[in-house]
Amino acid sequence: MGSAVGKGLSFARRIYPPRTVGLGIGFFCVAAALQPLGMPLWGWGLLVFNGFLWPHLAYQLARHSRQPYQAERRNLLLDSLFGGFWAGAMQLNPLPSVTILSMMAMDNIAAGGLRFFLLGSLAQLLGLSLAVALFGFTFISVATPLQVYACLPMLVIYPLAVGGGSFSLAKRLSEHKKALRAVSRTDSLTGLLNHGSWMDQLESEFQRCRQQHTRSSIALIDIDRFKNVNDTYGHVLGDMVIAELSRVLTHTLRDTDTPGRYGGDEFCVILPGTTQSLAVEVMQRLRQNFAKVRFELYPELMVSLSIGVASYSPYQVDACAWLNEADRALYQAKNQGRDQVVLGKPEAQPQ
Ligand code: GH3
Ligand code: MG
Repeated sequence: MGSAVGKGLSFARRIYPPRTVGLGIGFFCVAAALQPLGMPLWGWGLLVFNGFLWPHLAYQLARHSRQPYQAERRNLLLDSLFGGFWAGAMQLNPLPSVTILSMMAMDNIAAGGLRFFLLGSLAQLLGLSLAVALFGFTFISVATPLQVYACLPMLVIYPLAVGGGSFSLAKRLSEHKKALRAVSRTDSLTGLLNHGSWMDQLESEFQRCRQQHTRSSIALIDIDRFKNVNDTYGHVLGDMVIAELSRVLTHTLRDTDTPGRYGGDEFCVILPGTTQSLAVEVMQRLRQNFAKVRFELYPELMVSLSIGVASYSPYQVDACAWLNEADRALYQAKNQGRDQVVLGKPEAQPQ
């Protein structure tokens, strides 16, 4: 419900400036066509209202409505009704009539697609019929020079205002899309890549190593007996331990390395261009750095890491084989007593 109101309000806010500009300059376009036709005073009053007061009233009506989106659609249909009315009152003088009717049709199709364009056209037709019923109809086929000049601002300025609005909307949408993409790739607790995006990076790194015959290593890192940490100190502190590991990890690695949260208490890293011995060295440093971490409320708490390292080899059939090698090394580290780094061996090498 709240988001529907938000959506309606931003819709109304977006339409407010171009409507103010469009109806303001549209006033001159219509006034120049009505001027020779002996429009009664109330007609001029209505035109002033439509040109200069209605845009503000329409916005306030939408803003204070319980359903701003619906209210704004109704406002657009009223715009069309007015537009049709002025076209009829101008005796369909071609240039000003086409100018205002087509600008409103553009607004309607932009706001609600083909269906809303058709609804708007019906409203225009209704307004036109009303004016013909009130003022009669004698088709005026030629526009005077004054009428042509009075239409020019509408023809030039209004599309610019609408185009500018569309551009800023498209820009905002693309920024939202970028932000959503970043959120969908990120683990919310640590800010590192999540499982899926890290796996995508691993696949790219595997293909890169394959094509360029370069060195690269990966590591899987698991917190030792993390369940005990949760059970003894609570999940909030458990979360702090995970966040702290991501911080130490980021500080220990180079900018070119790609850390991620594999899931639960397990982390993963790609170390491009790194030999297996260097990767083991970096991971030993990580293990030592993390062992030094202390938590203010629980100074006695010490947490260790088990780490499995695997280097790219042309004998690995795919990225999963590479990952499995690191996984086996991690399990070996756990089985050998935890708090250590183990370098993986390929499962089976050709003779
Ligand atoms: P091991 O040394 O064999 O790795 O033992 P372990 O207790 O760390 O292993 P296990 O996989 O049994 O436990 C991991 C625990 O991590 C279980 C799960 O409740 C906890 N965990 C997973 N994700 C989170 C998280 O986001 N926050 C917290 N606080 N705990 C988590
Ligand atoms: Mg664990």
